[in-house]
Amino acid sequence: MAGEKRGGWKVPLAGFAGFALGAATVLLVVWLYVRERGPLTSSPAPFPGSTAVPAAPGAPPAIPSPATPPQPGMSPPALSPPAAVPPADLTGRDLLLPVQGVRREDLRDTFTEARSQGRVHEAIDIMAPRNSPVLAVEGGRIVKLFSSDRGGLTIYQFDPTGTYCYYYAHLESYAPGLTEGMQVARGQVIGYVGTSGNAPPNSPHLHFAIFRLNAQKNWWQGQAINPYPILRPER
Ligand SMILES: [Zn+2]
Repeated sequence: MAGEKRGGWKVPLAGFAGFALGAATVLLVVWLYVRERGPLTSSPAPFPGSTAVPAAPGAPPAIPSPATPPQPGMSPPALSPPAAVPPADLTGRDLLLPVQGVRREDLRDTFTEARSQGRVHEAIDIMAPRNSPVLAVEGGRIVKLFSSDRGGLTIYQFDPTGTYCYYYAHLESYAPGLTEGMQVARGQVIGYVGTSGNAPPNSPHLHFAIFRLNAQKNWWQGQAINPYPILRPER
């Protein structure tokens, strides 16, 4: 009788322990997932008061971006590993420099620079005075106006063929009247340089990225492409 009682008591206990272990594992996986999202935007070179945190030892590599769009306030989306060579159809378009008053020779290639939490920059930072006009690099459609913790006020613009997405981040403000779905022309003012998101308050700049959209044409998914050799081609 006593043996039966103990046995009857141990089985549910073992079941509960198994359940707790499983739940803890799921929570850990979810936490790692949320924590590792989004290599898109970050601050330029280390600066005082930076909130950058070094990657934890053994932290998993960046994971594919999710099937559902990020919500406002979340990190900007993660991208697939970058393309090795800039696509010829992009280099041939003579894209406009996205900040008024900046010369091509002022650009710096910071595409492969490391950022916090083991991320890679996968963009270039174009330094400019606060409120410098941000210009559409070519014509296309404003697909998303997104506010994220790292990117701050951002714009996602598709190119005219829906092949590529241009990403403008750390804006001080949007151009008045700019809306999602709007068609913009090459050189149109779409926003103003600032320090929103995690940009250092004393280093206003435009964080500019290009990515190749995948078949679903989701604004939060794609393959990173280095804008530097496209915006500053060898002539
Ligand atoms: Zn940046």
